[in-house]
Order: sequence, then C-alpha cells, then structure tokens
Amino acid sequence: MSSGSIEKGYEPHDVEKCWYAYWEKEGLFAADEKSDKKSYSIVIPPPNVTGVLHMGHALNNTMQDILCRYRRLRGDNVLWMPGTGHAGIATQNVVEKSLAKEGTKRQQLGREKFIEEVWKWREEYGSAIIGQLKRLGASCDWQRERFTMDEGLSKAVRRVFVKLHEEGLIYRGNYIINWCPRCLTALSDLEVEHEELDGQLYYIKYPLSDGSGALTIATTRPETMLGDTAVAVNPDDERYQHIKDVDVILPIVGRVMPLIRDKYVETSFGTGALKVTPAHDPNDFDIGTRHKLDIVKVIDDDGRMTTDAGKYEGMERFECRKAVVAELQETGALEKIEPHAHGVGHCYRCKTVVEPNLSKQWFVKAAPLAKKAISAVEDGRTRIIPDTWSKTYFEWMYNIRDWCISRQIWWGHRIPAWTCMDCDEAIVSEETPASCGKCGSSGLVQETDVLDTWFSSALWPFSTMGWPEETPLLKTFYPTTVLITGFDILFFWVARMMMMGLHFMDDIPFQDVYVHALVRDEQGKKMSKSKGNVIDPLEMIDRYGTDAFRFTLAVFAAQGRDIKMSESRIDGYRHFINKIWNSARFALMHIDSPGKEIDVDRISLADRWILSRLKRITRSVADALDTYKFNESASELYNFVWHEFCDWYLEAVKPILYGKKGSEAHDATRSVLWRVLRDTIILLHPFIPFVTEEIWHKLPGTEGSVMKAVFPSDQPDAECIRHDREAEEIMEKVTEVITSIRNIRGEMNIPPSLSLSVIVQSQDPETRAIIEQQREMIVDLARLESFTVEETGVRPKTAATAIVSNASVFVLLEGVVDFSKEADRLAKEIGKLEKELSGITKKLGNSGFLEKAPEAVIAKVKARYDELAEKRDKTEKNLERVKGFQEN
Ligand SMILES: [Zn+2]
Ligand SMILES: [Zn+2]
Repeated sequence: MSSGSIEKGYEPHDVEKCWYAYWEKEGLFAADEKSDKKSYSIVIPPPNVTGVLHMGHALNNTMQDILCRYRRLRGDNVLWMPGTGHAGIATQNVVEKSLAKEGTKRQQLGREKFIEEVWKWREEYGSAIIGQLKRLGASCDWQRERFTMDEGLSKAVRRVFVKLHEEGLIYRGNYIINWCPRCLTALSDLEVEHEELDGQLYYIKYPLSDGSGALTIATTRPETMLGDTAVAVNPDDERYQHIKDVDVILPIVGRVMPLIRDKYVETSFGTGALKVTPAHDPNDFDIGTRHKLDIVKVIDDDGRMTTDAGKYEGMERFECRKAVVAELQETGALEKIEPHAHGVGHCYRCKTVVEPNLSKQWFVKAAPLAKKAISAVEDGRTRIIPDTWSKTYFEWMYNIRDWCISRQIWWGHRIPAWTCMDCDEAIVSEETPASCGKCGSSGLVQETDVLDTWFSSALWPFSTMGWPEETPLLKTFYPTTVLITGFDILFFWVARMMMMGLHFMDDIPFQDVYVHALVRDEQGKKMSKSKGNVIDPLEMIDRYGTDAFRFTLAVFAAQGRDIKMSESRIDGYRHFINKIWNSARFALMHIDSPGKEIDVDRISLADRWILSRLKRITRSVADALDTYKFNESASELYNFVWHEFCDWYLEAVKPILYGKKGSEAHDATRSVLWRVLRDTIILLHPFIPFVTEEIWHKLPGTEGSVMKAVFPSDQPDAECIRHDREAEEIMEKVTEVITSIRNIRGEMNIPPSLSLSVIVQSQDPETRAIIEQQREMIVDLARLESFTVEETGVRPKTAATAIVSNASVFVLLEGVVDFSKEADRLAKEIGKLEKELSGITKKLGNSGFLEKAPEAVIAKVKARYDELAEKRDKTEKNLERVKGFQEN
C-alpha cells in the first residue's frame, strides 16, 4: 500500500508476523563483534528448554527488548545474547514422564539411551519457548543462540571445573546435604522450600549412665534418635554444671553416648539438652566434626531405615516415626508431646519432604569466590537496582555456605572425574583420560553424577561469548551492560555469575543488575494454577496484539512494586494502540512529504507548543529509560500521544489542515505534523515495535526500518526547535479557558453541537492580550458563536462562571438552557442517587454483611458510596445554581 493511505482499523496479527520476519531477514538484530561503536550488551536469562512463556518471562523479556531497541536507536552496537538452559532435573522429569506413557522406565533404557531420548525431545520441543519469545517481539541476535549443553559451553564447564579443582576450590567430601528421597538426588540449600507446618515436639528422657536421673531432650523427628551419638548442652548452662563424668544411654537402642558441651546449643530451647545426630542434621554434623563423634546413618537414600536402625530396618521413615514413638511410650521414655509449628523443607521439584542426609558429594568452596563478588558491589563496579536488593545480596554472600554441585541424575554435564579401578587414583581432567597416570591402567570409571544446572548457568555471560577462547565477541561485549532478572534467582544465578565472572574473567559480568518485581493478579495475589488466576501471555497476544500487551507491562513496571495485571488493563491499552493508529491515519491523509524546513518564527502557537512538548518528552523518555524507570517513560508517552498530540494538537490544527492548500500556514503545519509524527513513532518504537514499524513504512520520507532510525535529540536542533517556554505558557492559558467552558457544558447538560456565547474578564492586560490573540483556537475548540474579552467589570446575568488563572470565564445561559426543565432533571437525578445511597447505607449497617464479606468487597462498596455521595453533592450544587438562574 502506498504511503499516505492507511487501513481503517489496526489488525495486529498479520502486521506482527510480517515485520518480525522482515527484521530477521534484514539482519537488524545482529550485533557487530568488531564495531568501534559504543557497545551495549545483555545476556538473556536462559529460559528452560521445558519452558512455556509465562508472565515472568513476558515482563523480563519485554524490558530487555525495550532497552535493546532503545540503545540501537541511540546508535549503540547492541548484543542481546539469547539461549536456553538444559534444566537438569526439570527436563529429566519431563522425558521420564513421556517415557512412562509408553511404559518405559529410564533405568530400563540405561544412561546412554536415555540421554539420546532427552536430546531427541530437545530437538522436537526445546525451541518452543524461542518461538514464543519471537512472538513477544524479542530482538535477540538469534544467529548466536546458545544452549547450556552445546559443545562450546560444555567445554567452558569442564575448564572451570578442572581449574577450580586445581585451585582447591572444588572438593569432594562427606557432607550433610539436602536429599530428596523421591528424586533420589542431592539438592542445594536454595532448592529446598521451607513451609511452616503444624508438627509435634516430642520430649524424650535419656537416662544417665550412673543411674542418677535422666536428661530430657526435645525433637521434631524422633525416628532420627536411632542415629544419635551424643547429647550436648551449652557449657554455660547452670542446669547442667553439676553433672560431670557421666554418659547418657540412648533409649530403645541402649547405646552409651558421651554428654558433650558445645556453645552451639541454645539454652532457651526446650530443656537446653540437645540430641546429636551427625548423619541427619547439618548442625549436628558440624558438632560431630568438632567433637569427633561417631556417625550412624539410619535413614537410607530412598527414605527407608538402614541396617543401623536395628529392628526398624526397611521401614519407611514416617512409619518408623510412629513406631518409635509407640515404643518410647510403652517403655515410659516419652515424657510428653506438644503441638509445635515449625519449618519443614520440601523438594522444589516434587514437594517431597527433604531428608538431611550424609553423602559423598562435590562442593565449591564458596567463601573465597564470594569475597570478590562482595567488593564488586560494595565499590559500585556493579550496581544492583533498586538498591534495596543489595542488602539481601550482601546478607547472603557474607553467610555463604559451600555449594553442593553434584546431582544424582543423568541429564546434565557429567562431572569430569575418574577413578582408577586398580590403584584408586582420582583423576580430574578436561579431556577423557585414556589411562591412569599413576599405574597406567586403562580401567578408569567416570563419576556418574552430573553438575547442578546452575553451575553452567553461572558461566553464561562469558561462556556464551566463546570463552575459554579469547574471542572478539568477549572483547567487545564483556562485561555486559545490564542484567534484567527476577529476585527469585538472585542467589541461584546472579550471585554465582558474579563469583565466576570475577574469578575467570577478572572482571564483573555486568555493570547493572536490574531486579524487577512480580506480575500478580488484579487483587495483588500471586498467580498460580491452583488458584486459577493465571493470565497466559500468549492468549493475551492472540486477543489484543503484542504491542498492547507489551505496553501494559511497561506502564505498570514501577521499580520495586509488583504489577497487578488484568485482561481489562491490556484491553484498555489496545485502545491506545488504536488511538496511535487512527491519529497516524488522520495525519497521513494530510501529509505527502516531509515538507519544508520549519521556521519556528513563522508557525502557529499550536505548532510551536507541540514541538516544544516533543523536545521535553524526548528528554524525559530518555532519562527514564536510562534509569530503568519503564513505567515513567511509558506513561509520559501515553499522555503525550493521547492528551497532547491527539486531544489538543490535532484538534487545534484541523482548521488549518482543512483550510487553504498551498498557503504558508497550511505548509508550515504539515511540516510540523510530519516532524512530530516521525519523532513520536521513533520514541514509541522500543515499547510497541510492530505498530510503529507499520506506520513508519507509510510515513513519506522514511527509508527502511524504524529500527535504523536515529533517536531524536533533546537539544535545540538545526531548525531551532527547542524547549519553548513561552509557547507552553500561552497554550496552558488557552487550554485552561477551553476546558473550563467544556466543563460547564458538561455540568449544565448542554449538547456539544450548540454554540455558546462566552465572556472572559481579566484585570491583567497581558492575559487579555494572549487570549485575544488565540481567539480563533478558543472559538473553534470550545464551539462559540460569540467571544468577548474585556476588563473586569459587571458580572453578566444568567451566566455560569469559572475562575481560571488571572481571569473569569462566563458562559451565557439565557436561551441555551431551559432552567425549569433542567431543574426537574437534576432533582430526579438527585432522587435516584439518594435511593442508591440509602441502599448502601443499609448494607454497611448490616453486621452480617460486614462479618462475612471479604475485605476487598467491603472496600468496594464503601468506595461506591463515596463516589455516589460526591456526585449527589455536585448535582445539588448545580440544582441550586439553576434555581438561582430561574429566579433571575
Ligand atoms: Zn524431589
Ligand atoms: Zn591407577
């Protein structure tokens, strides 16, 4: 379709498909790894290959896309690095489930065949999320797409593992870890979800070996007592000072155990005596290490009791709890049971209660790595925005524990460690070794565990750019400019990228970390499948178009505040997209070229004003985006386009546009209109890329994609367009007068088609002059048949009055309003309002309603009351006024 002509309604779907394909074909997302231009880079938080686009992704990626498109318009060399994560446990579970449908188990296939199945699954379904990101408009450099398990990234993982091992920062050890008895794997502390549960506290009597009495200990997990190897008290606890040189006897088992003193024991909890179970509690494990206690493992990896549990061997752990309690009760060792709410850890994947368990695992010594990551944020090399998250970051980093990186699953990076079957030599190596370096044997067995998914994710900012090779890409784009992330992965991911980046690149991975909030439902509740309040981004895109959806996200993305999302809000912003479309359509009917150079001394007030506003809006959009205030930049643009450009400017210049063709005024306004439309489309592009590209191609005098346009300058330009304070002040006065007349029209129920007579009185000669000068615009926009500007004098009779700055506006009502009819109408209206108000008063007086109704409902009713009461008061005032006119 030729420029200047544009379809009546905006249909997003065809437009979106067409332009996305065009952008890709033209290579407009591609970063230049050897450019001298200022570089700007973002690595995408890699979505899981099992992922389906949800609101969190939508928000996160819309923000990244806004920034990338904005920086391209500013002339930067932009890299938005895309990719996906292999998501160890999550993906393995998905493939296991699909195999189960065919009646096959992972174990039947064996490791190699199973891994083949996972790759097959990944080939088939693993790029679904990428297609969904494209629908969102994401302008990633797709030619560079990476996967955490691809060859290059796997090489980086092995290099890092071997290097850290050489440096003594990776070790293998017996340690108490969080164990999921269902997934049969270790979990990191972060993968355990703590939930407050109503449990019980069991008080058990442990007799002293000299028969002088007993110590009472309290526990929430009585079955673990079978693995006790000591009882501990605080050395300062007065209650136990007199007990010396005596052992404790473990009930049921009869084990004789030492009574030890350790500062860790809290004197305020229970009786101040603590049972110590080194194999099944992390703190007890530490105490055990300090006091060189025996370690007795009584719960096995599958959640059943071991041989060391004696007669309870083979029993499921919670069954065993019941049995142990019953036996303690029978033997009189149970003193009492109290209800006790406490946090219980659950597996984040399958929600099974996690069992702290002793096992041989691989660990990263985190503290030395954390040190550098702490100082990088402390000295401001990396900024966390909003700053409140820095505190959370520091707290975690200062108290960091060693990171358990081995997982007992099959899908993931297999740990590059081997054991010699002949001499037990342990080998850690980047390449698969052919033989044992010590004895020459070729009988080497590789470690079966794989690495925690987050291990490879921690390398993402540099592994995706080709590390360990020294690539031009790394040179140009590392450190990255900003990371956009949700707070839920601040520790899982961000903190670890900081540690690895600083250690291996000797530089921060990103200058800024922007932490965004959550998208919640309309009431502010977390979206969840079980609550049925999930809004599906893809459905929203289908229904309202990508631009409307993206703009809604941007408008509500205030720093540190969760977004309350609802479908009606998205629908609302679809009207905004249509408004843009319609105003462009109107403008394009009147412009067929960029027009002549603008001479700011010879254009109308409206022209001067809109150009000045454009300059200001350019500045504030840029300022807001430079400081990650997405909501501010979007709202500024919304107000500018809707209220200033459409409501005032286009209305004000309509007479000129429909006026004499070829006149100086006609040409000048068309040039201004072209300029404002072009710049506005560029400003809007980062937020709503599709509709802006569509309009851009219809705008005369443009070439190629809007993505290649130059962001407007906020400085005075060659055409002397600048902030024009005078024009803004005059326009403000004029719009104030027009608005006051329009308000009176509304209040007095005067039809818009009826022309009015208005008198403006002012004592200020300057005000009178300004209003006089703009008489045409006022007469036109307020629909007046007569308009008089005079010095303050006699107040006109039968006139509605409005006071504006430095002037009074009188709208003459004689012959315009039938006062007795209007009085009747207003009285009826008041009657209706009163009736509804009394209904609400009754409702709010009903104690049953107040007790039973949810708070939100009550608040809604109260708000409705206030709204109606205000309307009634206003209507009553109007009635009084009309009655006053009647008497005149
Ligand atoms: Zn699990
Ligand atoms: Zn050997």
